[in-house]
Amino acid sequence: MQVSETLVQNIVREVLAKMNLQQAPNNAHGVFATMEEAIAAAKAAQKTVRLMSMDQREKVISVIRRRIHEEAETFARMGVEETGMGNVGDKTLKHHLVAEKTPGTEDIRTEALSGDRGLTLVEMGPFGVIGAITPCTNPSETVLCNSIGMIAGGNTVVFNPHPAAIKTSIYAVNLINEASLEAGGPDNVACTVQKPTLDTSKVMMQSKDIQLLVATGGPGVVTTVLSSGKRGIGAGAGNPPALVDETADIPKAAEDIVNGCTFDNNLPCIAEKEIVAVDAIADQLMDEIVRNQGGVYASKEVQDALIKVVMDEKGRLNRKCVGRSAKALLEMVGVKAPAGTRVIVFEGPKEHPLISTELMMPILGMVRCKDFDEALETAVWLEHGNRHSAHIHSKNVDRITRYARAMDTAILVKNGPSYAALGFGGESICTFTIASRTGEGLTSAKTFTKARRCVMSDSLCIR
Ligand code: NAD
Repeated sequence: MQVSETLVQNIVREVLAKMNLQQAPNNAHGVFATMEEAIAAAKAAQKTVRLMSMDQREKVISVIRRRIHEEAETFARMGVEETGMGNVGDKTLKHHLVAEKTPGTEDIRTEALSGDRGLTLVEMGPFGVIGAITPCTNPSETVLCNSIGMIAGGNTVVFNPHPAAIKTSIYAVNLINEASLEAGGPDNVACTVQKPTLDTSKVMMQSKDIQLLVATGGPGVVTTVLSSGKRGIGAGAGNPPALVDETADIPKAAEDIVNGCTFDNNLPCIAEKEIVAVDAIADQLMDEIVRNQGGVYASKEVQDALIKVVMDEKGRLNRKCVGRSAKALLEMVGVKAPAGTRVIVFEGPKEHPLISTELMMPILGMVRCKDFDEALETAVWLEHGNRHSAHIHSKNVDRITRYARAMDTAILVKNGPSYAALGFGGESICTFTIASRTGEGLTSAKTFTKARRCVMSDSLCIR
């Protein structure tokens, strides 16, 4: 048998990735036994960072970008192995996206006002030490993306990651510090604790040394952070509907929706979670998904079996099902999935538990509506007032405008897959912290800065 060079390269890459996984970051940079120590170290590092020029900060960020590209696949494997969620191919792409499209210092702009009474500059400066809480669904993606934006803003950061993703999160914190040291910056620009708990997050929320809190996760953590008495940025849950009307290009809508819905097994909070289709094209759309996009139609019995497996009687999700593939989910209910299976589909009322709940699994229920007006009302109901993300496939600009106004979400993708909003096949920056609850939208370096007004009275206006 002839072995091609590409095959050898792939095997070497795979072995290296596995070796990296075994290097448990016991002595990783930025990792402390207690939250108090982590905050103290980040505070000391911030004294250096705030004196660094924009150019020096940018050097640190460019090394971070290079290291993320180099380790994208390692992060992807580590995340999937530790959390059991998502898939290595898409997670690798997500890390490359973070490295490429997360804004750096260029995101921070100065506003200048000049007139007869002088010159005023509004400069965006650091908060200091930021406390960030991160999810298990995009663990290293969020730690890395947050760190780039926060350091660009002149801050340092302390993370309280999801305990189920601590190994992956520590690996990310270590990379950030190694990159800072390589670029001539200080250690501990990002810090965390060996064992994050609700108690360590409480210490973080109450610390006088933390000026800003950033919560990325479900409704519980966002509400807790926003009740802390400190300034908080809340990036909470969503349940994004994809509305399809009779003017849409139906084969393209089917392809875009399934591509967005199945990306990293539906883990991104912006991903299509259900379809709302007008009656005139509902059958055609479902047919396209089943015939050409790897959709497997679930019977009533399979739907009922799935409900029993993916959630308990109170509607709480079974973590073992979150971020699993459609094939794995079908196998859990005793259905052998055909080759090429990508998504489980069915039709049901909007109240169906697999439709109204944010599942983060490639299960895509379709609600049929008599016309656009009913579809719009249904989509608003399904989004549950999260004001997070919504998507639409339509060629009618008046309807798109009405939909955008009615949904009132941080993200709205028209005629494309949801991930276009993160810069993947769309004009956008990348972020994994979408501040839906507090209204900042896609967070970036400027979100992590505060306005400082410098007023020169009666001078320096040379107009
Ligand atoms: P989760 O809410 O279970 O956990 C998120 C983080 O909050 C974890 O670090 C967890 O330990 C912590 N946490 C939970 N309750 C807390 C409390 N009461 N006090 C302090 N910390 C607490 O969410 P998850 O399963 O890790 O992530 C999925 C959820 O996050 C989904 O709802 C998804 O939509 C949302 N999410 C939102 C965004 C966004 O940008 N808006 C991004 C990713 C995930």
